[in-house]
Amino acid sequence: MRAVLIDTPGSVRVDSWPDPVLPGPTGAIVAVTAAAICGSDLHFYEGDYPLFQPVSLGHEAVGNVVEVGSEVRSVKVGDHVIVSSVAGCGACAGCATKDPIQCASGAQVFGSGVLGGAQAELMAVPAADFQLLKMPENISTEQALLLTDNLATGWSAAQRADIPLGGTVVVIGLGAVGLCAVRAALFLGAARVFAVDPVAQRRERATKLGATAIAPAAAQAVLAATGGIGADSVIDAVGNDTTLDDALATVRARGTVSVVGVHNLNPYPFPALTGLLKSLTFRMTTAPVQQTWPELIPLLQHGRLNVDDIFTTNLSLDQAAEGYAAVAARSGAHVKVILTP
Ligand SMILES: [Zn+2]
Ligand SMILES: [Zn+2]
Repeated sequence: MRAVLIDTPGSVRVDSWPDPVLPGPTGAIVAVTAAAICGSDLHFYEGDYPLFQPVSLGHEAVGNVVEVGSEVRSVKVGDHVIVSSVAGCGACAGCATKDPIQCASGAQVFGSGVLGGAQAELMAVPAADFQLLKMPENISTEQALLLTDNLATGWSAAQRADIPLGGTVVVIGLGAVGLCAVRAALFLGAARVFAVDPVAQRRERATKLGATAIAPAAAQAVLAATGGIGADSVIDAVGNDTTLDDALATVRARGTVSVVGVHNLNPYPFPALTGLLKSLTFRMTTAPVQQTWPELIPLLQHGRLNVDDIFTTNLSLDQAAEGYAAVAARSGAHVKVILTP
């Protein structure tokens, strides 16, 4: 099959890769019909994480089931399915919470070197009953791709940000996750959302959703807008040292910082004394993807939550190099890229 591969930072290639093998009686093989490039795919591309061997990339996919193990019950060959970006064993007490992060065997993310990537013609899915969801009615391909990760992540970020009804929220980083977080924060009762990104065109996207745009850093403008108090909740959808510093400087005393951006491997010098003196709550979250589906899918189906206009760019799988370069440029024009095998 063909797959998006990386073996050196700064370039990806689409090349032949061994066809995946059915991962046991509970597994399935999915023929990918659409995959997306995620900001977190850039960590290999930008050299944040070491590459010891070629990695087949991607963790956001929808597709058709082409093979199932004998013990798979919830999907069958021919079903159109959503694939969770985060995988658990599906059989332990942790996975019973529908949160793969709590898996006793340890969660795995597709396309990170252990499980194969989603930006490929085929992917092997272990514990298919846990990782796969038969495509619900009235869910578009773009919505489904966002349900695999970015919407689940933005939604979880807002849920874990302790947003008071009528509260003030800051969202740092206006990629796909940040734009989902802006919508989730408004949905969950924020009166004001300040949207922070260095790229003007990305800020404009958030303004159209009802947010107030701020160029980084956020702290000064938010303090000025809140009488020196700070924001009730700050969602950091970037998660680097600079944005973490900004989040901690922007949140009010007794407020909450909710981090879903993916840090590099270096330690972060956490200002623990500031956190203590401000009585802060600091939360970090990998989305409990499967757990969010029963909430998010009806909200999307009934038009209560709108995630239109997040995808900007439609390419074929063979154009993956162009797609990665576009995402890495973090421009206003290219926010979220679909790759179609
Ligand atoms: Zn992702
Ligand atoms: Zn498990």
